[in-house]
Amino acid sequence: MKTRGLRIRVQGVVQGVGFRPFVYRLAKRFGLTGSVRNTGEGVLIEAFGDEKALLAFLKALKEEAPPLARIESLKTTPLEGKAPSEFLVLESQGGTKKTKIPPDVATCEACLAELFDAGDRRFRYPFINCTDCGPRFSVILDLPYDRGKTTMKVFPLCPACLSEYQNPEDRRFHAEPNACPVCGPKIWLCDAKGDPLDVKDPLAFAIEALREGKILALRGLGGFHLACDATNQEACHILRKRKKRPRKPFAIMVKDLAAAELLAELGLEEKRLLCSPKRPILLARAKSPSPLAAEIAPGLDILGLMLPYTPLHHLLLREGDFLALVMTSGNLSGEPLCVANEEALTRLKGIADFFLLHNREIAIGIDDSVMRFIAGKPRLIRRARGFVPEPLPYPFTEKRVFAFGPHLKNTFTLTREDEAFISQHLGDLEDLETVRFFKKVRAHFENILHVRPQVLVCDLHPGYLSTELAEEEAKKTGLPLVKVQHHVAHAAAVAGEFGIRPPFLALILDGVGLGDDHTLWGGELFYVEAGAYQRLGHIFPVRQPGGDAAAREPWRMLLAYLYALYGDKALKTFRKLLPETFWAKGEIVFKMLARGINAPLTTSTGRLFDACAALLGVCYEQSFEGEAPMLLEAMAARAQEKLIFEIPLTVKEHLVLDTRRLFRLLLEHLEKYDQETLALGFHLSLARGFALLIRSAVQQTGLKRIVLSGGCFQNKILADELLRELLKDYEVYFPEKLPPNDGAVSYGQAIWASWKLKLKG
Ligand code: ZN
Ligand code: ZN
Ligand code: FE
Repeated sequence: MKTRGLRIRVQGVVQGVGFRPFVYRLAKRFGLTGSVRNTGEGVLIEAFGDEKALLAFLKALKEEAPPLARIESLKTTPLEGKAPSEFLVLESQGGTKKTKIPPDVATCEACLAELFDAGDRRFRYPFINCTDCGPRFSVILDLPYDRGKTTMKVFPLCPACLSEYQNPEDRRFHAEPNACPVCGPKIWLCDAKGDPLDVKDPLAFAIEALREGKILALRGLGGFHLACDATNQEACHILRKRKKRPRKPFAIMVKDLAAAELLAELGLEEKRLLCSPKRPILLARAKSPSPLAAEIAPGLDILGLMLPYTPLHHLLLREGDFLALVMTSGNLSGEPLCVANEEALTRLKGIADFFLLHNREIAIGIDDSVMRFIAGKPRLIRRARGFVPEPLPYPFTEKRVFAFGPHLKNTFTLTREDEAFISQHLGDLEDLETVRFFKKVRAHFENILHVRPQVLVCDLHPGYLSTELAEEEAKKTGLPLVKVQHHVAHAAAVAGEFGIRPPFLALILDGVGLGDDHTLWGGELFYVEAGAYQRLGHIFPVRQPGGDAAAREPWRMLLAYLYALYGDKALKTFRKLLPETFWAKGEIVFKMLARGINAPLTTSTGRLFDACAALLGVCYEQSFEGEAPMLLEAMAARAQEKLIFEIPLTVKEHLVLDTRRLFRLLLEHLEKYDQETLALGFHLSLARGFALLIRSAVQQTGLKRIVLSGGCFQNKILADELLRELLKDYEVYFPEKLPPNDGAVSYGQAIWASWKLKLKG
């Protein structure tokens, strides 16, 4: 048979995932000659052989690709010229930078086996990795993905590592972060003051310290963790005190799957997710009684747990034989994660007893991702390590867009042709540190993607720092600035993720966002078209006394609902419900309500949850965002009895779900039922009420395509119940690739802008 040549261009996630050695092995198997190389656009293969072999080669390329690879396109063109005599793996070529940046990957089984093999040259080496696993996004400084463009560039490979790196038959062939104890990064220990400790085995020392109940600042893959023994009550208590984090749950890292099963109820899918190479923190139902310290997640029935994902984690947990370690973000409450050694030694001083440091620099900080099974599927609560920077689809290719995101749980979105890159979770844009982190991550994304925006997008709210940043930049650069209502952005994000074309209906149940009418929205039903929308319905508006203060103090919302129901007589009921310490404050807030001073109207569903949490005595003051609704959900999950109240729907200018009435019914039944039943009743009634609201809107519009999103959908009971109800009759979309909370807003802003820009032409 005649020898033919073929040029094959492969795009997708094909770098840093063992794709070239895979191609090499295939070429050998089919007796082909030619070459393979990384380019800025993906992987370029030149292959020579007979027709049959070439076809078999192409088929195998698609079918047998390495586990972490994802081929998005594969284009072939005939290739003239003489066939070379062998198949070569060539150096990378620059290009137009279309390649994907792979996310970080948990340590693979093969590397783990070597890690604990006393005969292996990498025995107990905390930085073992291969083409199937290890750091990626967190070490990449630029593209194409090559060692010289990662933070590993300062470690020249020793002869043994180099020969692995150069040998196409080796599983470390072009494993860019390849390293060993001779040539690679190292760990060491510092004491509480930050002075290096001269210990022979820093790992064994750290384990001993953890056993004694000490707190360890641990430099990991994407930043620092603060760790302590999760079964040690005293250690957890000290960590809470020092970190000034009184109640917000701690994530834990468990030794293995068996340990996870001991602590939480896990189905097959949940176990699979825990073991996946992305290794997120999974929110699962906690078992009780539990050997864990009560301080891990006070009052909650769910537990955030993950499996070890770096060699260092495996070593700590296995050699220390810990059932579970607390692994909470190494930061001060509200600030971004510590990333550099020096930074941690300063900022975590006074919290950590010891610092376990290393010298593999982290190119950009990235938190652990958090997931929860809601309505039968794993959903993101926080999207970061393992997921970022995988892009989502983007329908507008003409201009590159930068969306600044919301105020809380900020992420940004940067688009490049038909892709949208959503940043990792950045935190609340409230302090300078977080703004600095935002700018740093943005510069990093713009640099590695080689993209500068041509259009800017931000929220309507003039008081957000993200809005300020956007306006400043628009003024300075003259770039056009598009503003998007917060909840409409939530809706657009879901449309973008699923590629749904408007029109559709969207129910967004959320905290607070500024509405078009200058009231605070958050329980809204929209009719969404491409670039235009109508507010069809919402929950009953009440006052939010003290603005943001009401978001922190649920007792204020309790009084606001009482005021909406009973007017001047509200205080009397308030005094009956709340401890005396709140009475004086209650009078001040009552005046705000009565005079309408600093008490804007709100239709926020989040605030309704707060009010009910306070009504049932679950939470009067929150120590972290979302505490009251989380406690309310936990209480509902313990209910024995099902209770459902009808919530009336009024049809006037808008459809208004009279949630004030639900509140009154709960209040009237306080004596009759236990708290748990009422808490569950609140959830179930609300789900039924929202289903009713949607049914009316469907009748009005004839549209049966429904989008659901917003922070309140992190609540499993509400989401499960409402989805079950709606799926019977409608086409329902609920976020999977992005969180339902504000983490998705920047992407939604970018999607909305794309619709607007297309309208303009
Ligand atoms: Zn590996
Ligand atoms: Zn080496
Ligand atoms: Fe939101």
